[in-house]
Amino acid sequence: MAKIQVMSDLLANKIAAGEVVERPASVVKELLENSLDAGATEILIELQQAGLEMIRVADNGSGIDSSDVPLAFERHATSKILDDKDLFRIQTLGFRGEALPSIAAVSRLQIKTRTSTEQAGTCLHVEAGRITDSTVSAAKQGTEISVQDLFFNTPARLKYLKSMQTELGHVVDFVEKMALARPEVAFRLYHNDRLLLQTPGDGVILHAAAAVYGRELVKQMASVAWENYDYRITGLAGFPELNRANRNHCTFFVNGRYIKSYLLFQAVVNAYHTLLPINRYPVCILHIQLDPSLVDVNVHPTKLEVRFSEEKDLSISVQQAIRSALEQHSLVPKAVAKQ
Ligand code: ADP
Ligand code: MG
Repeated sequence: MAKIQVMSDLLANKIAAGEVVERPASVVKELLENSLDAGATEILIELQQAGLEMIRVADNGSGIDSSDVPLAFERHATSKILDDKDLFRIQTLGFRGEALPSIAAVSRLQIKTRTSTEQAGTCLHVEAGRITDSTVSAAKQGTEISVQDLFFNTPARLKYLKSMQTELGHVVDFVEKMALARPEVAFRLYHNDRLLLQTPGDGVILHAAAAVYGRELVKQMASVAWENYDYRITGLAGFPELNRANRNHCTFFVNGRYIKSYLLFQAVVNAYHTLLPINRYPVCILHIQLDPSLVDVNVHPTKLEVRFSEEKDLSISVQQAIRSALEQHSLVPKAVAKQ
């Protein structure tokens, strides 16, 4: 056995990248989450060759202070949490301080950023995790990050990627989810200079959903607005006729974070019980707001799964929220709705 040694930061970042950066869509996810955490109201996403050649995300958020820019590329450096008290009351999408160093470890990255209080912006180049260039540069307030040649130094990961079409599909899917998560943010997504998605950013979930799913489809959805002491549940629930053959058409957001949850899906299915033909599933977009201490998002590095502390309570609330939305449209007989 060789002697035990602590690995270099460069190597640690490259290993972490294996977990956090699986494909172009994961880069888009991390960059978008950072833009949203920075309070952006407009986000432009541009891809070339499904993101393999280039991914650029530009936002009008807070920007990063020039003295902090290099720090943002250090592992476990974050402006979002300070101590373990914060860890159990997470309000931001990011908090692990891993995304930028991970992405930078497996690409050629350029960041341009400026805060509102600075005259000039900062431009930094990072290649395979090493800062190669740092200049003072004219920049709009906000942050623009370009990621080129993703996985150029990890050929094994590059080989594992699927077709361009599949990779693009994952990106579009994710941007659509974010657009539905934040109707108050205007998103624009271009692929090879073609506009694929544009949302108005006016705060109306129906308008964001119309941009994502098309106007015709959202006409067949009831609006959900329900709350009790613990939960506020809003969004859109498809009329029972708008059913689908697979389970992928229920989208959930918890405190603005897109999550996957069998628990919530099951609650929705229960709410539609007897209204749908057998083996058909509902379509819905649900936003659930709850006290951050009632949900643990630190279950997995991608934070797609969360743990709720009051599962039963939440399930019942979701069922009630959907039922009362459908009831308003007289899609549920009142007697059934009360059960
Ligand atoms: P995390 O999001 O977990 O804090 P990241 O590696 O994604 O970690 O980002 C590191 C830090 O860089 C963030 O905490 C934030 O301060 C800053 N940052 C990253 N992207 C942006 C952005 N688009 N706008 C403003 N600040 C950003
Ligand atoms: Mg982040």
